[in-house]
Amino acid sequence: MNPLLKYQLHTIGFDGKLDELQAVALLDAVNKAYNKADEDRIFWEKMLNASSKGTTKPTQKHYPDHALTRLSKINKRYEKLFPNKKPYYFFYTKDADGKMLSVSASVMGMLGFSGDEFIRQHGLLLTQGLYCDIDTKMLLPKYGYNMPYEISVFTHKGEERTLELTEYPCFNDSDEFIGVEGIVRDITEHNKVNHKISNMLYHDALTGISNRLHLEVLMEKLLLDNYHKRNRFAVLFLDLDHFKHINDTLGHDVGDILLQRIAGSIQRMLEDNDIFARIGGDEFVIVMKNIDEIDLTVKLHELMDLIRQPWEVNDYELNVSVSIGVALYPEDGKTIVDLMKNADIAMYKSKSIGRNSFTFFEEHFNTYVHTEMNLIQDMSSAIDNGEFLFHFQPKVSLEGNKMVAAEALLRWQHPKLGLIYPDKFIDLAESTGLILKLGRWVIDEACRSIAWFNEINPQKQLRLSINISIRQFQHEDMYEIIKTSIEKYGIDARQLSIEITESIMMENNKEMAHKLNKIKSLNVGISLDDFGTGYSTLSYLDKLSIDELKIDKAFIDAIPEDGNKNILLDTIIAMGKTLNMTVVAEGVEHEYQRKYLEDKKCDIYQGYLFAKPVALLEYLEYFKAKCKEEEG
Ligand code: C2E
Ligand code: CA
Ligand code: CA
Repeated sequence: MNPLLKYQLHTIGFDGKLDELQAVALLDAVNKAYNKADEDRIFWEKMLNASSKGTTKPTQKHYPDHALTRLSKINKRYEKLFPNKKPYYFFYTKDADGKMLSVSASVMGMLGFSGDEFIRQHGLLLTQGLYCDIDTKMLLPKYGYNMPYEISVFTHKGEERTLELTEYPCFNDSDEFIGVEGIVRDITEHNKVNHKISNMLYHDALTGISNRLHLEVLMEKLLLDNYHKRNRFAVLFLDLDHFKHINDTLGHDVGDILLQRIAGSIQRMLEDNDIFARIGGDEFVIVMKNIDEIDLTVKLHELMDLIRQPWEVNDYELNVSVSIGVALYPEDGKTIVDLMKNADIAMYKSKSIGRNSFTFFEEHFNTYVHTEMNLIQDMSSAIDNGEFLFHFQPKVSLEGNKMVAAEALLRWQHPKLGLIYPDKFIDLAESTGLILKLGRWVIDEACRSIAWFNEINPQKQLRLSINISIRQFQHEDMYEIIKTSIEKYGIDARQLSIEITESIMMENNKEMAHKLNKIKSLNVGISLDDFGTGYSTLSYLDKLSIDELKIDKAFIDAIPEDGNKNILLDTIIAMGKTLNMTVVAEGVEHEYQRKYLEDKKCDIYQGYLFAKPVALLEYLEYFKAKCKEEEG
């Protein structure tokens, strides 16, 4: 790799967060550009050597008095040196007053003008550099030559080109300034490539908005600008809620389109001078300048409403929400690192209070930095440290109100954060692969619990269901794992059920059906969780050996309080019964809901109305009391 390129990439801290193809294309383009720059440099060096031949001081060019009239001859020499197959260069000379004396013939190839035509039409244009300020003449001997500058001109055909001019002062033997030689380079294409490269380097390929690198560059500039002014600005860290679920159930294509649409809509909502970047899968950062807290709060509400609107993607209506954390400059941080970290921490606070909200950073959040990274690190040891446990929620028959089974719901007793609910760690466990280890623990622990219950109450055997994530299903031989645990604890396989979501059917249908049926052959119950919220078709329902349909809480919430019908719910119950499944209603909180379900001949309900999920010993008390009641 070009050494300059290597160095540049290093200095910009480019962390290569591009996919492989993009990275290869990018590096190739950058590499080419650097090689081109090298060629240019060699060209310049040759040229300087040629022009300083015979002069004593190589940094200054000395000519006999009135020698400039002869400079056009030198131009000819250059042209011989660099035969202009592709005329990217032409040369000119000007006298000490800036009047153009000659232009090399290559101007014709480059711009389509003859030398004379060019001098007439554009001679004045080329006076910016050296002659913009007459005093610069005084400085010239010190610097040797002037800095290059860019101008844009139209070719004879009317095409716009960008030219880069570099002028070298010329002196006579008495060290008097007598004029300049100028070299003109056509950098139109070069600029285009540069533009493309910076676009690729600085922009997110999916959404077209800034990427993390650009965000950092822009924030750096903002911090510099504000070093004295101390104008406040706000850093908003946005993380879409449950976005992974959409990717998992509908595929990455749908997820990608959704991200593009959301990014586009946010962009349109923002002010021109706001900074907006995508820094990870579903993570965005917005920097809002010169904003007071009231304006900001209004904006935050607008943002949340915008994202909460239903998004139509490929015929799906998708609902997403967002968790936002806000850090303010300068009070919450004076560096990019601090501001981003604190906005991130505040964002986690939003997630922990139930998502779909925004939180302003507060100093005390820092006591334990509750970030994904920390949770992931803690999680791997938590399994071995025995920090996971179940809470049990009874499943109750609608006829006779009997506790017929229970669902084991995972909890994490974190030594610093206290009891953590699955919505905060299951996604992380899935994305890091820890779900496999955790899932195996769940199966083992469930079988162990069943065996324990059996021992305490041999007459009344507990039926327990556990949740299995789609990731586990994809990667593990669930049949073997379940079989091993059942045998290890010597329990009746019929006491165990697994709850899966219909998203499993979105994956390879045949393979999943095969896996499920194999597990079923062990006599383990299969239950379809969160039914009605997925996006899959119903056609798989009668092809699979599903025992139980768990109607999602959303449908139970929709039961009208006034006793009116809920046709959708009625249909689902009827469908489940037709397919010979046990129909379970989830999240029943009110008596009118229970009554409605009883009337519709739903089989089982589960919810806070009867009992919240409780720890093992508490559940055991319930269980014993119920058993006594039933005996008595
Ligand atoms: P789920 O399987 O749909 O579990 C039902 C969730 O609803 C539980 O939340 C439960 O506490 C809650 N719930 C029950 N009755 C009511 C009610 O009347 N009102 C309200 N508002 N909520 C009620 P929880 O325990 O927080 O679990 C959330 C989700 O985490 C579960 O949803 C399940 O998808 C996942 N999960 C739980 N344990 C495990 C596990 O061991 N493995 C895997 N992969 N996922 C798990
Ligand atoms: Ca469940
Ligand atoms: Ca559920």
